[in-house]
Parts: sequence; C-alpha cells; structure tokens
Amino acid sequence: MKGSKIFVAASLAPAIRAQAGLYEQCGGIGFTGSTTCVAGSYCSKINDYYSQCLPGTGADSTATAPTAATTLATVTTAGSPSTVTSAPTDSTNPLAGKSFYANPYYASEVISLAAPSLSAAGSAALAAKATDVAKVGTFYWLDVKAKVPTIAAFAEDVQKQNAAGANLVLPLVVYDLPERDCAALASNGELSLANNGTALYQEYINDIAAQINAFPEVTFVLVIEPDSLANLVTNLNVQKCSNAETTYKTLTTYAMKTLNLKNVIMYLDAGHAGWLGWTANITPAAQLFATLFKDAGSPAAVRGLATNVANYNAWTIATCPSYTQGNTICDEKRYVNAIAPLLTQNGFPAHFITDTGRNGVQPTQQQAWGDWCNVIGTGFGIRPSTSTDDPLLDAFVWIKPGGECDGTSNTTSPRYDAHCGYADALKPAPEAGTWFQAYFAQLLSNANPAF
Ligand code: BGC
Repeated sequence: MKGSKIFVAASLAPAIRAQAGLYEQCGGIGFTGSTTCVAGSYCSKINDYYSQCLPGTGADSTATAPTAATTLATVTTAGSPSTVTSAPTDSTNPLAGKSFYANPYYASEVISLAAPSLSAAGSAALAAKATDVAKVGTFYWLDVKAKVPTIAAFAEDVQKQNAAGANLVLPLVVYDLPERDCAALASNGELSLANNGTALYQEYINDIAAQINAFPEVTFVLVIEPDSLANLVTNLNVQKCSNAETTYKTLTTYAMKTLNLKNVIMYLDAGHAGWLGWTANITPAAQLFATLFKDAGSPAAVRGLATNVANYNAWTIATCPSYTQGNTICDEKRYVNAIAPLLTQNGFPAHFITDTGRNGVQPTQQQAWGDWCNVIGTGFGIRPSTSTDDPLLDAFVWIKPGGECDGTSNTTSPRYDAHCGYADALKPAPEAGTWFQAYFAQLLSNANPAF
C-alpha cells in the first residue's frame, strides 16, 4: 500500500460516483475529481487548495459558508460514541465519564474515501476495520473561517445523542491564526498580517463563541492553535515567527478570554517532549503559557495543555530511542510530569490531554526527532479515553485526524516544506489537511491496539 496509492481517492472519485459526496473534496489546485456535489450539498471553496461539499445550499465553488441551520448527513450516525472511561484518576477531571463525539466530517472521509479505496485495492479486511475508525471520537479542525458554521450541525447532533443517553463532548481545534505555521510552510493558512488577519481572526473567534453560546447544554473541548506558542519559544529566529510574535500573543489571549464560557474546556497547545521538553525550552515555555493566561484574566475555562498534537511520541516508552538524542524527557508522560511543577509555580493549571492518534508504533522509524511530516511506519495509537494512568492526564485524545495529510511532497507547491520530502516522509503526499489514503492505510495496518 505504501507510497503508491495516494491520489487514488481523488482520481477514482469520478469513477465511483459522478458527484462528490457530502464532505468530500470538490475542487482545489491539482484536484481532478468531480466538482459537483450530491443533492443537499454544495461545493464550498475552503481555500485555493481545497473545496468541499458542505450541507445546505449555496453557490457552487464560492467561499460562501453554510448557514448554521445545516442538517447532518446520514453518515453522522456512523459514529457511535468512542470508548470511555471507567476509572478517572483525577476527581476534578471535567472530562471524566465523557466520550468524544465522532464527527461526520472524519467519518465521511473514512467511509467515503478510505473504505472504498481499500476495497478497490482488494483489502476487504482493512476496509471493514476502517468503519471502526470512523466511530472514533476525533477532533474537528476549524482551520478556515468557513468551517465555523459546521459547529452548529455537530452540536445539534451531540445534543440529540446526549438526550438519548450518550455523554458526549464536542472536540474542536481552533487553528486559524494570521501567519499560521510560521516556522514551516506546509500549513500556511488563510489569514496574514497583510490581509487584516488580526481583525478577521477576532471575528473568527467571536463566531466560534457565538456558536458555542447557542448550545449551552453541549460541552466543547477546545485545543488552541497547535504549534503557535511553541514556535514563539524556539523559532523567533524565523522572520515570519518574530513578525507574528505580538499578534500570536494578543490573539491567543483574545481567544482565551472570548472562549471563556461555562460550557468550554480549553487546552493550549504545548508542542511535545521533543520540542518544548528540552531543558532550555521547558521553563520559558511554562512562563509563556502562564503569562498569557494571566493576561487573559486567568480564565476558568482554561484547563491546561494539549501535547503531542499531530506528533508521534509514545505516552510512555521504557527505553529512550536513539533519535531522542539523550533527552531524558523522551516521552509525553515524562514531559507533562516535568512541565507540571513549572506551570504550577507560575500559576498555570497543570492538566493535560495527549494526542495518541498516531503513536501506536514505538519507537517510530523517524530519522530525527524533529521530523513531523507524514512519518513512515506509524500507526493509530491508544483510543480516546479519560481512563489514564496519570492524574495529570485528563484524557488520551485523537487530535490529528489520522489520514489527513501533514503537508504536500510536491516540490512545486507554494506550501511545499522540505520536511515533507525527507526520506522518512511517505510520498507522494497531497496538501496538508486533505485526505492521504496511503497514510491512512499505513496507520490502520500498524494500529496498536489493533482494530
Ligand atoms: C492542516 C489543516 C488540517 C489539520 C488536520 C493541518 O496540518 O494544515 O488544514 O485541518 O492539519 O488534519
């Protein structure tokens, strides 16, 4: 499977069906599949690289966002609650006893793209397993403003399922800072300082807050801006990061304040052991989190930090792998235990969630600890659960949706980042955030625990 099937989903789409299905890609640079959407949905331009069939009516191929009154696709029900928790280790853990909502966006990627592709490739067994992956509660990334209205549709569904006896929370990633991904190219976003990004980002946060306020009975778990503050700790030598420093700080504070709502549980992104876990970085990192938290008025909805987002580190590993280069903080459990006292000293709440979506294979086959793009040989890891072995850890979570790409390997793309061309990166790879079938197949084949 590896390396040869990447574009299968997109290029076979017209053969499978004349129209793109709900939440499938329907346009974007380099896209060759169907540009019309099935009845009840329309093709919405998300960015230059990605248009997507969203529920409702709208002008095809425009940036028009769906209205909040959208209804859900039937595929929604493909996701039953993910496995939960029996024995919370921290009595104050606000996630204890709850499950993470399996959103229809990810379910649709898996059911409409991954499973047919696996079947077509003769892997009936893997295709069957894929349907179980679609049921795992995975975070939904608000990586463009146009996705914000989708929150309402998901929240309605959560409300409905909770009324029928479920105990779901709705997990979302806030990810649209101006000058996003300032030290890399792969995930450059839609907002910049030059295009009025600060005001537009505030609008984006206000819109998210409005959606959340419309569903006071639903609990939202928010991860705030992967990589951003970590970049301010280690990458201010990169001009794009130093230019954006003040903006990142001001807007993170704005997000914390504005999203400080009764039905929100927030975690700021904190990189991972191999990034902020180094001795030189861990103290400045704790100080930065605490300073911004205080600037925001110590909001009660901020619960702690999210670690290992889109990364591959083990939660615990007995022997530190060679690529961890002698850092004794070589796994996420060591990292959260090392940073927790520093956070506490500085007045920041020391609670964590850790992304285990892609850390099933340990040690990984990455050549350097800093390699982050579509690393070869990885597998799905521990399922989302609030049953953890450490009182600091509120939950194992799946934040990076397994199968969505980290970045393109196409060297001519404006978002090509050299990391995605390294020997340990699976190729050919499509644009960040779009479906990467061969990567999904890899994660599924290597899943630990197995599906
Ligand atoms: C991409 C986003 C995507 C996210 C989750 C990031 O690398 O830039 O567009 O939503 O990954 O897959």
